[in-house]
Amino acid sequence: MSQLTHAKIHFNEQGTPVASDFDDVYFSNDGGMAETSYVFLQQNGLPERWHTHSGPAFHIIETGFGTGANFLLSWLRFRQYRQLFPDAVCQRLYFSSFEKFPLSHADLTQALAVHTELKQQCQQLLDAYPLCIGGCHRLSFDNGSVVLDLWFGDVNTLLPQLNAKADAIYLDGFAPSKNPDMWQQQLFTGLARLSGNGSTVSTFTSAGLVKRGLQQAGFTVSKIKGFGRKREMLTAIMATDTATPTQPNNEITIIGGGIASLCTALALTQRGVAVHLICEDDRVARQASQNRQGAVYPNLHANLTDDSQLHAQAFLFARRFYQHWQQQGLSFAMDWCGLLHLASNTLLQQRQQKLIDKALWPTKLVQAVNASEASAIAGLELPHSGIYLPLAGWLSPQQFCLQALQYLQQQKLFRFSPDCKVRAIRQHNSGWHLDTAAGEYQAAVLVLACGSKLAEFAPTAQLPLNKIRGQVSYVQASAMAPLKTVLCHKGYITPQWQNLHSVGATFDRNATEAFISAQDNSENVELVRQQLQQPAWFAKAEVTDATAAFRATVPDHLPLVGPLAEQQNLYLIGAMGARGIMLSPLLAELLVCQICAEPLPLSQQLCERLAATRFHSDTL
Ligand code: SAM
Repeated sequence: MSQLTHAKIHFNEQGTPVASDFDDVYFSNDGGMAETSYVFLQQNGLPERWHTHSGPAFHIIETGFGTGANFLLSWLRFRQYRQLFPDAVCQRLYFSSFEKFPLSHADLTQALAVHTELKQQCQQLLDAYPLCIGGCHRLSFDNGSVVLDLWFGDVNTLLPQLNAKADAIYLDGFAPSKNPDMWQQQLFTGLARLSGNGSTVSTFTSAGLVKRGLQQAGFTVSKIKGFGRKREMLTAIMATDTATPTQPNNEITIIGGGIASLCTALALTQRGVAVHLICEDDRVARQASQNRQGAVYPNLHANLTDDSQLHAQAFLFARRFYQHWQQQGLSFAMDWCGLLHLASNTLLQQRQQKLIDKALWPTKLVQAVNASEASAIAGLELPHSGIYLPLAGWLSPQQFCLQALQYLQQQKLFRFSPDCKVRAIRQHNSGWHLDTAAGEYQAAVLVLACGSKLAEFAPTAQLPLNKIRGQVSYVQASAMAPLKTVLCHKGYITPQWQNLHSVGATFDRNATEAFISAQDNSENVELVRQQLQQPAWFAKAEVTDATAAFRATVPDHLPLVGPLAEQQNLYLIGAMGARGIMLSPLLAELLVCQICAEPLPLSQQLCERLAATRFHSDTL
């Protein structure tokens, strides 16, 4: 994927936004919302179709996001429908929209100012509007009942990466004569692939090539009266015999007790799906999620690799996710204080130089800093230049897990079985039989989210899971100068929280027990001294406490997410190494969408790279 550029826009005499490069308006001068209402909602049978929709989610695909006017009105109408019919079957709206030239935040702010009747929603959209980074940005509104998947990039490249049926399609490119790219046969065929029985299409244009293109792709097309002064427009419908996907109505059992399990449980209960969480310990966050603080930042590469695409998307999603749950009342320590990654050795320096030279990522995400800038940001003397990620920070995974559990335990749809080590699982009818320390359990659908213990069951025994023991040391704040930002070198130091800094972390590939050792504490402290050239502000640092746990990875260092081959109703989420805090929110969302047959928040290509089946014997 090539680098994205913002749209170049100006405003005409009526105040309507115009794309300078295409010489076309984003919406008609005759009142944007009235046109949206007529062309896109009414002609797709909305909102009436929501009342009778047989599935829990309704999916709209739009070809050009622009100023988001079509999205905003669809969201408003869906919100009104939900208020009037809170118990109707259809509970969630998915809106997948593509944009090759995203408006800058400032231009979007100006463009949305005209919608005075939608002020609050416009502000929410502006608050969530993502950085100009390619790929899918999943934004949730109204406590998850409206989901906007904003796919930044060319619709022609991205559409084949989608794999969820659309119920309605808004064809909204600039006029075919000005923007032929968005009206190609390949696009119509791609949309037909994503259409099921009764999927509808509407567009403001009545151009012959659009009519013929849709027909050729298999749609039945009608020409009807256009909006305002426009004589005609097109609508279309697909007639096939495909079945509508259904949401599981059984309880889902999760084995685990860390951040991946809790994110999965939150995403499921938010969709009204019941969850049984089974944990071998007396409470959650006893293992890899037990740390006091964990840094949250993406590992960015100079080129757009799958890893860094995943990291950028997961990082931005995680920020929104944790902020959302804090707003919902979960009380856990979190600080988006920024993160400095110092070029403390030659290899790091070369990598960072390449990253900055290629300039693939926006400076709001990552920027170069020299040693004196780094020192000013950190609030203490640093000997190296480096990169600065102003949006990054840290949070307490242990507190988050405990708070998430407390929240879940107040939900009707949740039950928790602590002190319940699962010894074995075996297939039973279409589900699973669990032999546990607390007795036998049945699971209609089973999710394994048990970190370093993921490969301890017969169906997962073949997974090449590596377990690496890591120890984090805690240093008294009084023994150190105050640090204002997370500081990474080969290891890391966090700003103090409750009077302790976290200094980490060791890598021990041989250990079979997660013991705490004095030697690891010395190693953590020595690493800071050696990498940062004996800093005076760290001279008195003394370790007063530590935690140790196993991180789990697989040889390609990508996580595992999804169904396990040929094992019905068995799913995995894990192998996130030391990145569970950052990756879990998005990967849990992905897993839950796979289970519930809802649109996925990652490209098909990335889903395949993460597939839990990739180490299965058939594919080895
Ligand atoms: N639906 C929008 C609204 O509510 O404001 C108006 C869409 S405007 C008519 C068409 C949009 O398509 C523009 O934002 C334009 O940048 C975008 N676009 C143009 N070529 C594209 C392409 N190849 N892939 C994705 N988006 C494209």
